[in-house]
Amino acid sequence: MTTTTRTGTWAERAAALDAADPLAPLRERFLPAPGVVAYLDGNSLGRPVAATPARLDEFVRDQWGSRLIRGWTEDGPDGPWMDWPQRAGDRIAAAALGAAPGQTVLGDSTTVLLYKLARAAVDAATAADPARTVIVACADDFPTDRYVVEGIAAERGGRVRWIETGLDDGVTPDQVADAAGPDTALVLLSHVSYRSGWLADAPAIAAAAHGAGAYVLLDLCHSVGSVELALDAWGVDLAVGCTYKFLNGGPGSPAFAYIRRDLHGDLQQPIHGWMGRHDPFTMGPGYVPAAGIRQVVSGTPPILAAVPLLAALDLLDEAGIVAVRAKSVALTEFTLELVDAWLAPYGVELISPRQAQQRGGHVTIHRASFREVVDALWERGVLPDYREPDAIRIGPAPLSTSFTELHDGLAVLRELLGPTPRWPADR
Ligand SMILES: *Cc1c(COP(=O)(O)O)cnc(C)c1O
Repeated sequence: MTTTTRTGTWAERAAALDAADPLAPLRERFLPAPGVVAYLDGNSLGRPVAATPARLDEFVRDQWGSRLIRGWTEDGPDGPWMDWPQRAGDRIAAAALGAAPGQTVLGDSTTVLLYKLARAAVDAATAADPARTVIVACADDFPTDRYVVEGIAAERGGRVRWIETGLDDGVTPDQVADAAGPDTALVLLSHVSYRSGWLADAPAIAAAAHGAGAYVLLDLCHSVGSVELALDAWGVDLAVGCTYKFLNGGPGSPAFAYIRRDLHGDLQQPIHGWMGRHDPFTMGPGYVPAAGIRQVVSGTPPILAAVPLLAALDLLDEAGIVAVRAKSVALTEFTLELVDAWLAPYGVELISPRQAQQRGGHVTIHRASFREVVDALWERGVLPDYREPDAIRIGPAPLSTSFTELHDGLAVLRELLGPTPRWPADR
């Protein structure tokens, strides 16, 4: 099959994009993945940086193995373990959140942190005004976000008001302004939609929520480490995100939570544990929250699980989020070009925004039979992921993916679809 662009073959085009890519040298700083032709799922699980095994080995032998219990309180290469939640939080804030220090902590999973922050906001809003019992959320958001707000509404006698979106878009500030009102405690939304990749207008959404007197909580799982964020400047109240997607922290690496500094006195998260007490080692009666963001910590922080993340943050610091976003846009633009040229003729439909400024770090395409097609791609060493209904998400991680890798992966997809497809579009 001839596959030419105006300026040469698509493979030549990919090679030229790689040659011009300032982040290209960083690809060698990831562990090789034998047998993988194209890793296109950086938005579900980022690849490990090559330094990870040595960092883990060093941690186990020299930190855990030798310092033993002293590691919690005595200074070490990354500070005493007790301080890791705030230290790692500040590193994420500086590298990726556009947030000043002292407002971010690491610990728990995204789901648990969503619960803690959403409950804190709802409780504060209802205490200030008993009429504020509604949580505004998106009916098409990631399942855990929906379940958490439903659970909180049931627990607190409130309810959820759902914003509906299409398969190929996401929530707009106007929808938030319409949905939020004097009965609203909290607006919870994803910054980048997990399915369509829609990049929400965060500052305008924060302004719409505040216009209604509600708090705003953003889920950053699909934007952190791929999109530039300015939480402080945008006036976002609360945010939560995972670290195993574009932050390359590894399977089950701890999530982070951000609370805007001027809310630290007003909000109290509901899981009172000894590690968030103002002085944990006095073991005294009653819970007295630690000052500032530390009170978000409940139990013993997941130190071991944070080690790979620290190695990955070194690489992000080196690259800089501005360059990461620029490459991410270039990768998703190239994806759109290949989808249009190669896949659209076989009935493949784009369900992500065409405008780069409305799109996060992944591109989603849609066609009947894609469930079976993904199985065949995985067999061929091409690893995107599948989402209901009939959608393939292509998530090229800017630090670890080349344009040639993206080209090669989509070439296998094109081969599977035509010209005599094994999987008809009219299933
Ligand atoms: C990945 C993701 C989560 C994951 O939650 P966990 O508690 O880490 O499993 C939550 N929300 C969104 C939007 C996600 O993309």
